[in-house]
Amino acid sequence: MTKIISAEVIELNIPFDDPGKGEGLFEGAWTSHDFALLRVETDDGLIGWGEGFSYFCRATVATLMRQSIIPALVGRDPADIDLILAELRQKLHIIGRYGITMFAISAADLALNDLNAKIAGVSLAEHLGGRKRENVPAYASLVRYADTGLVGELSAKAATEGFGMIKLHEIKLPYIEAARAAIGPDVALTDDVNCNWTEVQTNDWAGALRDVDLLWLEEPIFPPEDFAALARLRKSTGLAIATGENLCTAHQFGEMIAQGGADYVQPSVTKIGGLTETMETRRLANAAGLKIAHHAPYFGPGALATLQCLGAAEDEEYIEYLYVDREASLYGDTLTPKNGRIDIPSGPGLGFDPDPDVIGKFRV
Ligand SMILES: [Mg+2]
Repeated sequence: MTKIISAEVIELNIPFDDPGKGEGLFEGAWTSHDFALLRVETDDGLIGWGEGFSYFCRATVATLMRQSIIPALVGRDPADIDLILAELRQKLHIIGRYGITMFAISAADLALNDLNAKIAGVSLAEHLGGRKRENVPAYASLVRYADTGLVGELSAKAATEGFGMIKLHEIKLPYIEAARAAIGPDVALTDDVNCNWTEVQTNDWAGALRDVDLLWLEEPIFPPEDFAALARLRKSTGLAIATGENLCTAHQFGEMIAQGGADYVQPSVTKIGGLTETMETRRLANAAGLKIAHHAPYFGPGALATLQCLGAAEDEEYIEYLYVDREASLYGDTLTPKNGRIDIPSGPGLGFDPDPDVIGKFRV
C-alpha cells in the first residue's frame, strides 16, 4: 500500500503578453495566468500534481483546496481514488455542486491520477486506456481583440505558423469576417462568444456566420445551461454549436446531451471534476455520436492531462492552444506547438513535473 503523507497548494501568477487590449470577461485587462496547483507526496517519495481552474478565482479555489481537499487526501492510498473522489463529491455538495467546488475536486482527481499512473510506471494516456498517438494538432485560440486589423493580422500569422484551425473570441460580426478574409477558405475557423449573445441575436446573425464558414459557434448564449435554447439554435441556425466548458460533472453533461444542446461537447478537465468526470463525459458524447473538443486554454497540469486524454482517444482531436506570449513556462517548451502540433509526453503520469525555478519565481 502507498500512503499520501502530505499535500500542498501552490499559487502562481505568470504574466503573458498579447497585442490586444486585454479585453474580455472581467473588469480590467487579462494579462497573467493564475494557477492553483496541488502537490501531493506519498510515503515512497512519489509526487502527484493537480490543478483546479483558477482564472480570476485563484485565492478562492486555493482556500477550498487547503480547507477541504488536503485533509481528505492525507493518510489515504491513491489506489482508492474512486472512493476518495466519491466522498469529496458527497461531502462538498453542500457548498455548491458546481463551480468552485468542482474546480477544487478537479485538482484532487488530477493529482491522484498522476500518482496512480506513476505508481504503474506508465503515461496517463496508457493508464486511461492506451496511448494511441505521439502528438495532436493544436488550434490557435486567440484572445478577444475587438479590432479588425489585429484580428486579421494575428489570424493570418497563426495560419502561417502552421495552425490548421483558429478560434476567435470576438462578439461582433466584422471582426469574425476579418479573420476569414485574412486566412482564406482553407483554414478552419471557429468563434467563441462566451455567452454574450441572446437567442434572438444569434438567429439574426446566423446567415452571416454561415457565410464565414464557422466549424463551430461556441457558447453563444447566456445562461450556458439553457440546453433547450441551445437545441433550438442548432435547428434554427444550421450552425454547429460547441459548449460545455462551464458545465461540471458528467451528470450535467448527460442532461445537456439528452436535451440535444451541442454538436461539439467541451469538457474542461480543471473545472468538470477532473479526469474521472471527463472520461465519463467522453463516453456519453461518443455514445450519442457527438464530437468532442476539450476546453483547455491551460499551461499547467490541466494542459498535460488534456493532452493525455487526447493521447488515449480513439480518433485524433485538436487541442486548444491559447495564443499568447508567456513570460515563463512550467514545462519548458513541452506545450509549445511545432508546425501546429503538440507532442504528448510519454513519461510516467502527466509526463512532466513543474519546473521548481519557475514555481520559485512566480509563486504568490
Ligand atoms: Mg470557450
